[in-house]
Amino acid sequence: RMIYQNRPGFGSFNSGGKIPLGLQRKGLRIVVTGGAGFVGSHLVDRLIARGDSVIVVDNFFTGRKENVMHHFGNPRFELIRHDVVEPLLLEVDQIYHLACPASPVHYKHNPVKTIKTNVVGTLNMLGLAKRVGARFLLTSTSEVYGDPLEHPQKETYWGNVNPIGVRSCYDEGKRTAETLTMDYHRGAGVEVRIARIFNTYGPRMCIDDGRVVSNFVAQALRKEPLTVYGDGKQTRSFQFVSDLVEGLMRLMEGEHVGPFNLGNPGEFTMLELAKVVQETIDPNAQIEFRPNTEDDPHKRKPDISRAKELLGWEPKVALTKGLPMMVQDFRQRIFGDHKENTS
Ligand code: NAD
Ligand code: UDP
Ligand code: UDP
Repeated sequence: RMIYQNRPGFGSFNSGGKIPLGLQRKGLRIVVTGGAGFVGSHLVDRLIARGDSVIVVDNFFTGRKENVMHHFGNPRFELIRHDVVEPLLLEVDQIYHLACPASPVHYKHNPVKTIKTNVVGTLNMLGLAKRVGARFLLTSTSEVYGDPLEHPQKETYWGNVNPIGVRSCYDEGKRTAETLTMDYHRGAGVEVRIARIFNTYGPRMCIDDGRVVSNFVAQALRKEPLTVYGDGKQTRSFQFVSDLVEGLMRLMEGEHVGPFNLGNPGEFTMLELAKVVQETIDPNAQIEFRPNTEDDPHKRKPDISRAKELLGWEPKVALTKGLPMMVQDFRQRIFGDHKENTS
């Protein structure tokens, strides 16, 4: 924590422009675990643009060098291939801890590895934060609410989670990661922040990670039917990635531990989402119903009053605005087609 206190102007990010530009703090050293992934790479872009030095720690399980390649050669950027389940020695001011497979297909692929990443990986990064006095931010998830019995979900809700199900490696893993985070905070005085992220989409998502937005967009582009699981009446709320990154940075720079829900409160059934995808990409795209997966939450929608009040944050990008930006990226990656497409 000394490192923090010795840096004049820390916190200026949130100061609403009161501190003159020249006096704003410069050049924090920041670790982003999982920084080669979807959310992490967008966060890295913002931190580099702000003037910070960024070390990405990633084992490339679901992340890709392509997501951060544009920073290669920048002396303020470093990429380390490392698995957070192993200890790591670094000297930094802030740790954004994102490393963890996030889509059901990936986190169920090797459930023991997923829970080790959540528990041992988070423990190691908290140990690192404690040793060097860094501020630590955990990217937890709306899945900690399980199949919620309260709707919309507030941060005070304790959740309805199956401890022995096929999703438990992820949702119970994240719950334990939150516990560890609070125990290091209370027990060792580590400065911590907890974000509970709701479904997020945008450019650089893995094309075949099985999540609903990436599936529908890739399917519509490839002229395949959109696969709706179950009756398609289950709901989710979809947040564009730039809104999330803004929320994560405000949380890190602010004074509140959280947890904070970060998500877009706009709620859609999967059938409604399919319709938006049809309207954006191909009105003739077919819909095909498939059996739903086990323990699939019926509905999910964040109550974001706490983030609005204490972080001054709320999402700005509506689904109908964000989706075309993702479609353009997917089109290029699927077809190698560089034509502008915002239709
Ligand atoms: P992602 O899979 O694109 O990124 C995760 C990154 O972590 C990848 O680069 C992966 O290679 C890396 N990683 C995984 N295990 C690792 C390990 N053991 N050691 C080092 N690196 C490892 O997923 P994302 O969507 O960018 O998610 C980022 C974080 O946000 C995750 O912690 C996820 O749980 C959380 N989150 C995301 C969403 C969402 O909708 N995208 C929702 C809730 C929570
Ligand atoms: N750790 C790490 N980097 C550090 C400091 C600690 O990876 O710079 C790991 C360490 O190996 C341990 C975990 O973080 O497994 C927890 O560390 P802590 O010091 O809290 O606990 P202890 O080592 O006393 O069990
Ligand atoms: N889903 C769907 N078709 C797909 C992929 C997912 O209908 O091709 C549904 C899935 O059953 C769930 C919702 O979309 O109800 C969101 O699934 P996703 O895996 O994207 O995220 P999560 O379940 O983690 O919220």
